[in-house]
Amino acid sequence: MKRVAIIGCGIIGAAIAYELSQLPGLTVQVFDQQPPAQASTGAALGVLMGIISQKVKGKAWAMRQTSIQRYKTLIPELEAATGLKIPYNPQGIVRLCFEGEDRASWQTLKEARLSQGWELEIWQGDRLQSYCPQVMNPRITGAIYSPQDAQVDPTDLTLALVAAAQKMV
Ligand SMILES: Cc1cc2nc3c(=O)[nH]c(=O)nc-3n(C[C@H](O)[C@H](O)[C@H](O)COP(=O)(O)OP(=O)(O)OC[C@H]3O[C@@H](n4cnc5c(N)ncnc54)[C@H](O)[C@@H]3O)c2cc1C
Repeated sequence: MKRVAIIGCGIIGAAIAYELSQLPGLTVQVFDQQPPAQASTGAALGVLMGIISQKVKGKAWAMRQTSIQRYKTLIPELEAATGLKIPYNPQGIVRLCFEGEDRASWQTLKEARLSQGWELEIWQGDRLQSYCPQVMNPRITGAIYSPQDAQVDPTDLTLALVAAAQKMV
């Protein structure tokens, strides 16, 4: 039996612990000076910016793309394993655009994403108003909508990863 020590029980340590807990022949221990998800993870908004990121190739894009796909299976997998509810909003994210902002790079990204099998929408002001009437700042003249990105509660996700990893012991 091999022993693995993980230092830090934020989202990263907890995710590594969960993935390693699925492998046979390993004993995994996570060490932290405080309870899980009390540092950066506890402060995070949990916005999952994969498709809307400006990365289109290389490792950084591959990791974002894999992550966005993995969340769709990870959330139900953890909820089933633990009985915990993980607040997860799969309805996408909206990035507001300000007047004078160059939208050409968004058009280029939209075309790149289309060729990669993903979607991005460029909303003009009237479309933004119809979906988000609460946005009333006249300097905001449109938005980028990324329907396949998401948001998750980072603390609840960390706690579920820990609970699921412990179940495998
Ligand atoms: C305000 C804010 C908003 C954010 N919003 C987003 C967002 O929307 N989307 C996004 O993707 N990212 C966001 N982030 C970034 C995200 O929070 C971090 O990338 C992520 O939480 C890092 O996780 P981590 O596990 O590496 O670190 P942490 O969550 O900081 O965990 C590190 C852990 O290590 C422990 N530790 C440190 N040193 C030791 C030691 N010597 N011995 C034992 N334990 C130790 C700490 O106690 C802590 O629990 C945000 C960050 C902040 C601050």
